[in-house]
Amino acid sequence: MGRMTASSGRRVLLAAPRGYCAGVDRAVIAVEKALEQYGAPIYVRHEIVHNKYVVQTLEKKGAVFVERTEEVPEGNIVMFSAHGVAPVVHDEAKQGRLATIDATCPLVTKVHKEAVRFANEDFDILLIGHEGHEEVIGTSGEAPDHITLVDGPSDVSKVEVRDPSRVVWLSQTTLSVDETMETVDALKEKFPQLISPPSDDICYATQNRQLAVKQMGEEADLVIVVGSKNSSNSVRLVEVAKLAGARAAYLVDFADEIEEAWLEGVTTVGVTSGASVPEILVEQVLEWLSGRGYEDVELVKAAEESITFSLPKELRRDLREEAAALVAERTGSDRTAPSGQ
Ligand code: SF4
Repeated sequence: MGRMTASSGRRVLLAAPRGYCAGVDRAVIAVEKALEQYGAPIYVRHEIVHNKYVVQTLEKKGAVFVERTEEVPEGNIVMFSAHGVAPVVHDEAKQGRLATIDATCPLVTKVHKEAVRFANEDFDILLIGHEGHEEVIGTSGEAPDHITLVDGPSDVSKVEVRDPSRVVWLSQTTLSVDETMETVDALKEKFPQLISPPSDDICYATQNRQLAVKQMGEEADLVIVVGSKNSSNSVRLVEVAKLAGARAAYLVDFADEIEEAWLEGVTTVGVTSGASVPEILVEQVLEWLSGRGYEDVELVKAAEESITFSLPKELRRDLREEAAALVAERTGSDRTAPSGQ
């Protein structure tokens, strides 16, 4: 309270790490590179990452987002998003004569591989995750007959398995660490021989962002999480902030969604962002807060991150040519069909 500017005590705690993780960074760059290399349009199945701003920016550059593979006209290039897809989607693309780029985050692929391995060993797999989330749909599709979704501790009582001595749990990568452990504890009580995954399925980025927000939640009156409503890891950050002690926590896509009323009686504002959020959106929030007297920004550092992933290998090939060849193949077989009659 020594300085004049600090008389109000208003300050911002800024989480570190926050924002882009290695999987999102890779997926966004993959779309940009594909547009550069092959020209527009590049079709993307589902939002490449769950962030409005990112999707809108890529759309302006020539990316076309579709919900279903069948919406992509044959002979085109389609990219699969960071959340991953079920094997059946690869088949759909083949049938639709599409060249594909798979931008699935390698840490999601890791979970897919675990699912395949345990299914091959005929385990029942209890997949902890949120029903309907794209990642869960993709992972379940690897071994639909072996996987049962467990959406939180309240689902545990319903879970049934064939053989309680051959059960393993896996999880979505973007869950709340604490809530997942609650679910695991409840599952273990029911199935004492439950096996844990060989390594964490909740990814490093999700864990680190939760750790930072937990630290700031203890001190902040209000926490603002920048992220989209369909972004699982961003929604989890709001929950973690509240559990850590923040009086209120809100999710906003853009600074102009912040309401003046949220600041009433607030001295310390925590700011963070989900793994799919570009830093410019956080900067705009800091500017908005600074305009209202929250100028002092302190970093709350929970971890260092240095992970990066190499770009999808398909980008090294001439995919326009591949897609054209797929169509030519079909046209060729169409031509031969009538003559055979
Ligand atoms: S949140 Fe984790 S799993 Fe998802 S894209 Fe980022 S690094 Fe990969």
